[in-house]
Amino acid sequence: MRTDKPKTKVSFPHMGTVSIAWAAALRIIGCEPYVEPYTSKKTLSLGTKHSPEAICLPYKLILGNFIEAIDGGTDYVAMITSPGCCRLGEYGKCIENALTDLGYKTKYIEMQLYDGIKGMYNFLRAVSGKNNPFLFMRAIVVAITKAFMLDALENKLFYCRAREVNYGDSEKHYKKALKYIDENDTLHGLKKAKKQIEEEMNKVELDNNRDILNVDITGEIYVVNDEFSNQNIERELGRMGVQVRRSLTLTGFLKDAIIPKIFRKEETHLQRANRLAKPYLSRDIGGDSLECVSDVVYADNRGIDGIIHLSPFTCMPEIMSQNIFPTMREDKDIPILALILDEQTGRAGYITRIEAFVDLMRRRKRKFQMQNKKEDTVGAV
Ligand code: SF4
Repeated sequence: MRTDKPKTKVSFPHMGTVSIAWAAALRIIGCEPYVEPYTSKKTLSLGTKHSPEAICLPYKLILGNFIEAIDGGTDYVAMITSPGCCRLGEYGKCIENALTDLGYKTKYIEMQLYDGIKGMYNFLRAVSGKNNPFLFMRAIVVAITKAFMLDALENKLFYCRAREVNYGDSEKHYKKALKYIDENDTLHGLKKAKKQIEEEMNKVELDNNRDILNVDITGEIYVVNDEFSNQNIERELGRMGVQVRRSLTLTGFLKDAIIPKIFRKEETHLQRANRLAKPYLSRDIGGDSLECVSDVVYADNRGIDGIIHLSPFTCMPEIMSQNIFPTMREDKDIPILALILDEQTGRAGYITRIEAFVDLMRRRKRKFQMQNKKEDTVGAV
């Protein structure tokens, strides 16, 4: 009697919609992606309970994701690691020790992102027990293609949210569009999905005459992309008629760390960061600090209405960024709102600060519009 060997279940921590990309790669190589429930208050409380008190928020949430995945029956928990001057370089070992101390037998595995394609390849080989370069390359290409589609879809969502006639419409169609990406694991299928996504998002009724504000969101990459820790700030801003643009994205990171140079046409985020941050920060001090400082300059150069900086409580590199912003304000005329995110999930104070910031940007914009009108009138006389 032939019995099929059960597939190896592999789980990654959440960060926005990234699970859609890694789940595809795992399916292609013959593993079973185990997608634990999205980060919630329960995740936070599990992670906090077993973490050092002063460690940064992403660590606690990632540990909580792992505990939920292990309790759900995954065989592997996979951690994305990278070297660096901040605590991220130590996260992997700490999380592995915490899981061992808790008595979990589940295998812990790391994917070294700064090893580029080679790091992803080694990871796929370890979890699948295969050594099939063609299969692995297909898995990597499909996962990266999905990551780009997810980012493009999110940008469309941000555009529609700020202009939607019926509140919640954009999100409803966005969720349907996400399924088209999730359900297709071939490049041909994804090409078709692109068309379906466009049709789906075109169903959102928009008010294109609305006077919207443009805001860039920068900060530590995890909290920028994780709607639980940032309390879905993008939705709140969209509701207030603000179109957001995430400065830190998964694909931005992939371009710097994974995608070979010959496939990159434009300047990457890190290259731009090295160029623009120079007068204020001359070297990488870990995390996303260099990028954040440069993002303020980039937003100001483009005449954006404001920039919001998100930082996990006790994040060392972002504390540095926030201390550089006052100097930047001397020669950059852009409103900056710095928000520190911690385990407190109360919304009232958070929303009030965002509303006040939006109000400030709106009044500032109106002032500029009035000034321009006056200058036009004087010029015409
Ligand atoms: S960048 Fe900040 S939040 Fe992320 S690991 Fe480093 S210290 Fe922690």
